[in-house]
Amino acid sequence: MSHLLTNIDQHLDEFAARHSLPGYRRKQIRQWLFEKRAEGWDAMSNLSKQLRAELAEELTLWAARVDRHSEASDGTEKLLVGLEQGGQIECVLLRDEHRRTMCVSTQVGCGMGCVFCASGLDGVDRNLTTGEIIEQFLRLQHCLAPEERMSHIVVMGMGEPLANLDALLPALQEATRPDGLGISHRRITISTVGLPKSIRRLAKEETQYRLAISLHAPDDELRNRIVPTNAKIGIDEIMAAADEYYEATRRRLTFEYVLLADLNDQPEHAHRLVRLLRGREAMINVIPYNPVAGLPYQTPSMEAQKAFRTVLEQGGLAVRFRHRKGDKINAACGQLRRSQAGAQDLVQLES
Ligand code: SAH
Repeated sequence: MSHLLTNIDQHLDEFAARHSLPGYRRKQIRQWLFEKRAEGWDAMSNLSKQLRAELAEELTLWAARVDRHSEASDGTEKLLVGLEQGGQIECVLLRDEHRRTMCVSTQVGCGMGCVFCASGLDGVDRNLTTGEIIEQFLRLQHCLAPEERMSHIVVMGMGEPLANLDALLPALQEATRPDGLGISHRRITISTVGLPKSIRRLAKEETQYRLAISLHAPDDELRNRIVPTNAKIGIDEIMAAADEYYEATRRRLTFEYVLLADLNDQPEHAHRLVRLLRGREAMINVIPYNPVAGLPYQTPSMEAQKAFRTVLEQGGLAVRFRHRKGDKINAACGQLRRSQAGAQDLVQLES
């Protein structure tokens, strides 16, 4: 059995050849998957029963199962997905006025080791396949009401997306194709710890995705402590690659900055950040830390957050403070997978 979603065109072509299937059938199957949000072969009611049975016999639609489905009062929904070969990943649906954003994972665990993050606490197990990434898109679409439409994608779940570009790019292609999810490149953001080689590769692909770089510190000395992989790379290298990405795509860059109490949240850090980013076509996205059980890091006080923001704004940077969503369901990276006691906060919809 092959997992259809690993390469939809190829698997449907091969199936069509084996069964002398006319071209419009392939189109219908794609429509069922992406537009009509079918949850199984059986639901594809304009295909004959026999065809559905043959499809079910030869092509697996879902390679994973939804282990837990939770919903917060602000409309955020989160899926804990159990993978066939073991391991779990998370993906999230965020609702914000007319926006429907899905946040997906690219790896089981993460190898980057950012000290404050729950996803990397046990390192990385493996890369997800293209099919496992597309499966997150489709499973999250099933959470939507019929009148809702998915509008944005952020690749900000578990894992380092630029360490798994080979699987991610074909998945995002399905997201942008008119006969896929039909989401524009500009509404897709890839968030990275900052891997210069892969940033350059992405620039060459001319894909027009938005790039977000997790900076978290204005200088190498501090960044090495918060983002250990930085010791092998350095901020200068990352900035040079980011500038190339901007030159190639003309997409405004986003820099993410997780605000950690007493570590990177002082006005002097903000001043240095202004010096680093000033003059770039960039936005700084400040994320007050979402505490992770067992880790010593804290969310800065409101006063500290405000003071930090003021320095950035007075320095002329385009600043956004990320609105926290889905706190109660541990919607930040890798948190649900680790939580057991957190279960009382969850509205259990499935098990
Ligand atoms: N590996 C990618 C994707 C990580 S998740 C990257 O490094 O960008 C997306 C963002 O959420 C990153 O900026 C990450 O540092 C941040 N993040 C992770 N855990 C967090 C937490 N507990 N609170 C706030 N932000 C967090």
